[in-house]
Amino acid sequence: MNMSIFYTLLLLCLFALLARWIKSKEAEWIGSYGEYKVRKAIKKIEATSSGKYKAFHNLYIPKQDGSTSQIDHIILSDQGLFVIETKNYSGWIFGDETSKYWTQVIYKRKEKFLNPVLQNKGHIKALRNWLGEAFSHIPIHSIVVFLPRAKFKSDAHFSHAYVVYPKQLKQVLKQHETNVIDGETKRLLTQKLETALVKDKQQEKEVKKRHVQTIQTKQRQAEQHIQQNRCPKCGGVLIVRKGKFGTFKGCNNYPKCKFTQSIG
Ligand SMILES: [Zn+2]
Repeated sequence: MNMSIFYTLLLLCLFALLARWIKSKEAEWIGSYGEYKVRKAIKKIEATSSGKYKAFHNLYIPKQDGSTSQIDHIILSDQGLFVIETKNYSGWIFGDETSKYWTQVIYKRKEKFLNPVLQNKGHIKALRNWLGEAFSHIPIHSIVVFLPRAKFKSDAHFSHAYVVYPKQLKQVLKQHETNVIDGETKRLLTQKLETALVKDKQQEKEVKKRHVQTIQTKQRQAEQHIQQNRCPKCGGVLIVRKGKFGTFKGCNNYPKCKFTQSIG
């Protein structure tokens, strides 16, 4: 074989591998970039507040069932705790406070994703349980942050959460002016929250791995239950029903338990 053809082929192969690697990392990079932008906005607020706001980033809150709840950011102030969930979507976003799913419209394609307000509600519930009785009087505010490349198109009213862009974060914090936390409580809270931070890259890797593993185990268990016609939510019996949108398995404890799973 001609040497120059050989090298051209080798180069092409390397390019193909590189392109594949970049593509596989793309989502992760976009994700971390969004994270970074929001973290920067929060750090700026923290730095210019002369000690009024204290921020914690990337916390893993232990739950009673052995799993963890991952929280992007928490801001602590005399006014309470602000729990922040970051979303890195682009395109048009539609959603309200109570629907299970929100919609992203991009290039005329529609994608469903879990309602981040409900998601954050779950994080706050885990945080409350973990903080316990001693801090039960402390108000916790929910904030969902979208990056400016997403256009939030809903005019729905949110009464239990804020849905904002990074530059509006400061306004949200300023809306709360009543001091409810004294210096000693703030010190104890800081101490407690610091225990949920990951110390270094190695620990983060381990915590992340465990976090994903418990989620996967839970999913597998739920799937097994469903196969055995047991409701993964309440332990009831699943019954095959026919609905407007096809056949599904529903819980016999309906309407108390609303679990359903479509079976095509
Ligand atoms: Zn059920």
